[in-house]
Amino acid sequence: MNFIETRGNDGVNPIQVSFSEAILSPMCSFGGIYVPEKFPLLGLDFLEKHLSTSYKDLARDVLAAFKIDIDQDAIEQALSLYDQFDDPADPAPLVRVKNDLYVSELYHGPTRAFKDMALQPFGSVLSALAEKRNENYLILAATSGDTGPAALDTFKNKKNVQVVCLYPEGGTSDVQRLQMVTEDAQNLKVIGIHGDFDDAQSALKSLLSSESFNNKLNEKNISLSAANSVNFGRIIFQIIYHIHSYLELVRMEAVSMGAKVYLDVPSGNFGNALGGYYAKKMGLPVEKIIIASNLNNVLTKLINEGQYDIRESAVTPTTSPAMDILKSSNVERILYDFFGADRTKELMQKLDQDKYYQLKSDELEKLKTVFSADFCSDEEGKKYIQETFESGYLLDPHTATCFKAYETCAEKPLNTIVYSTAEWTKFSPTIANALTGEVGTTDIAALQAIAKKASIAIPTVVSDLFEKPIMQATVIDKVDIEKEILNFLD
Ligand SMILES: *Cc1c(COP(=O)(O)O)cnc(C)c1O
Repeated sequence: MNFIETRGNDGVNPIQVSFSEAILSPMCSFGGIYVPEKFPLLGLDFLEKHLSTSYKDLARDVLAAFKIDIDQDAIEQALSLYDQFDDPADPAPLVRVKNDLYVSELYHGPTRAFKDMALQPFGSVLSALAEKRNENYLILAATSGDTGPAALDTFKNKKNVQVVCLYPEGGTSDVQRLQMVTEDAQNLKVIGIHGDFDDAQSALKSLLSSESFNNKLNEKNISLSAANSVNFGRIIFQIIYHIHSYLELVRMEAVSMGAKVYLDVPSGNFGNALGGYYAKKMGLPVEKIIIASNLNNVLTKLINEGQYDIRESAVTPTTSPAMDILKSSNVERILYDFFGADRTKELMQKLDQDKYYQLKSDELEKLKTVFSADFCSDEEGKKYIQETFESGYLLDPHTATCFKAYETCAEKPLNTIVYSTAEWTKFSPTIANALTGEVGTTDIAALQAIAKKASIAIPTVVSDLFEKPIMQATVIDKVDIEKEILNFLD
């Protein structure tokens, strides 16, 4: 299967590329991103067949349907990483929480957030490709908390790939920071920046486009790649768990095969929701995809009013920080799918220039046939965490936003699958506050308070972090980033 560009072709870039080329160098003509030229149709017989297979078998067959140019042994190696999840037979368990609401827990991997579902196998595939081609890659990542640990974990000690991860010093939770700064592999570098996430991200963007920096990398025979969710190598692994959670629902006899369901997704960069959309396009019986946001509700406005408006907004810090995003990169792939390359280019350029676009009314109507959306304030989220805990289930603040959207968007009496993106251990001060009222606690105190209140154990991968030595102590000013990275590469 070949990949084409969301904003059309500039006559310089190849018109089509293979999967491996799309994931090694994800940047496209006119600033666009890669999408598959067409999608395989799976059909109900594919779903029937996989009622009795494992997650890995399902994953292998979904990947096969895409006919990607990756050797089978590299695919097996990548999928074997699901064996280190809590339950190797079921890396993403589905749990009934109330009535027709089910939660698909995507956080049972090594860094306790859903980024592992895709980054674990993606890292393995990318490194295998780089090794096979005898090329060296540098992955630069700016993180507000979850992507960094997951990217570091997947690439640690992998061949032909080095990772530099920038995070805002003081801008992540203790657990997230410790997951990064206790990494000791030679091919990883973690750099704290004096500033916030936007500072880290803009520093990274200017490096990526800096000619002198790229030249210096070329002299060292290193190419740049990206591990964020514009890389289709992540998206492809995010289609699989949507299919898996539907099959789980059938296995639990909550729905009969072919009956429609809602997918309810806590959204930031729209990678998770896009995976659900692609699964629907490939034949998964989905009524609608519900897009849950926090107070940074650009996606709610896009889906309800057809307006992408970031003219006045600055990011509002919330208790669901992984969703504190204004420019949601994967929306571009939806625009492409609905309206084609010319219109996508027009809309995305308008967004870059004017920080605003408005869809036409027929375009908006089309969007609404597939998506609905709502947003949830921190106070509302806290209420859902409290209520749901009282009825016996512990939620993280990102997942909580879906509970509001479930109430307002799931109009028909169909089952809803909420995608849970983080374990309670990653955002414990917020959860402790909801459950016990305590404020301003450290992560460790909050973890202990929740463990006691809920009578559950803190997973050892989390509690061990507080005992490990700090291996990555670098904290610098933005201006020194380039020098620091070049030093590391020498
Ligand atoms: C990354 C992340 C999200 C947002 O997912 P997108 O695919 O970017 O929409 C939501 N919750 C958590 C905990 C995350 O880490």
